[in-house]
Amino acid sequence: MLATVIHAARDIRVESVPDPELSTGGDAIVRVVASCVCGSDLWPYRGITPTREPHRIGHEFVGVVEEVGDDVERIGVGDFVIAPFYVCDNSCINCRNGVSTSCLHGGWWGSDDRLGGFADGGQGERVRVPLADGTLVAVPGEVADDQVPGLLTLSDVMGTGHHAAVSAGVGPGDSVAVVGDGAVGLCAIIAARRLGATTIIAMSRHPERQALARDFGATHIVAERGEVGIKAVQELTHGIGADRVLECVGTKESMDQAIRSTRPGGMVGYVGAPNGGPELPVRPLFNRNIGVNGGVAPVRGYIEELLPDVLSGAIQPGRVFDLELPLAEAAEAYAAMDERRAVKVLLRP
Ligand SMILES: [Zn+2]
Repeated sequence: MLATVIHAARDIRVESVPDPELSTGGDAIVRVVASCVCGSDLWPYRGITPTREPHRIGHEFVGVVEEVGDDVERIGVGDFVIAPFYVCDNSCINCRNGVSTSCLHGGWWGSDDRLGGFADGGQGERVRVPLADGTLVAVPGEVADDQVPGLLTLSDVMGTGHHAAVSAGVGPGDSVAVVGDGAVGLCAIIAARRLGATTIIAMSRHPERQALARDFGATHIVAERGEVGIKAVQELTHGIGADRVLECVGTKESMDQAIRSTRPGGMVGYVGAPNGGPELPVRPLFNRNIGVNGGVAPVRGYIEELLPDVLSGAIQPGRVFDLELPLAEAAEAYAAMDERRAVKVLLRP
């Protein structure tokens, strides 16, 4: 089959790899219907994370189950399934505590699982899914082609934006500022509105992203950053800062922006994968009673909750995809995102 392999920085190839095979009894083979490129895939692409040897890449996909192992009970051949960006059993103590990203038996796409089988990367034609009963969520009924992008966001970005909002404790009537206008930041706006926030401030400098942010529920746009941006947020929030601030970038600057845009007693929900060394300034947090909560989003636990709203069209996170390419053009997908010609690229095998 064909799958995407990263060989080095800026060297993405779609090449022939071995077909996946069932090996544990608890696994499944999924034919990928759609996958996509994640902002975090750009780190190895840009060489920020070194690529020591060629390896498979891609961790967001949806598809149709082609085979299941003898022990698989919840998932069947023919099911349309959503895979979170990691493998988990959805049953161990960490999974039951809502932290399935720390699953005691879990793992990551594009690497060996704990029993020695290979879990393929998502940017390919097929994937062997370990712990299929825990990892996968089957979508009820028929899936129309135009529903695929929305369902694919439940693999990562929609669940991650939701995690930011949940971690910050967003509730009815809250004011929320969102730092970051990538796919996760845009999904965090959807999540904030869904949870009842009434003032939603999108911090964005890009006109197309500002427009989408408004469609998703942003009531205000702040294009400025730094001190000017903080003042602009305060002016919209009784002069004190937002109740909840969702940090969706992961840099030192974005974390600083988030903390300083939060009102005394407020909470930052952070889901931007830390990159470039953000550290928490404990004294200012102490002085202003600001909490910081969040981390790598345990999206598996959010799929069932968010799925009905995606299927009904009540939320439309699939609109974050602004470019669709065939899998064979994966290299162009990375380049388009790297050069910010696209917010998020959907790949179809
Ligand atoms: Zn687990």
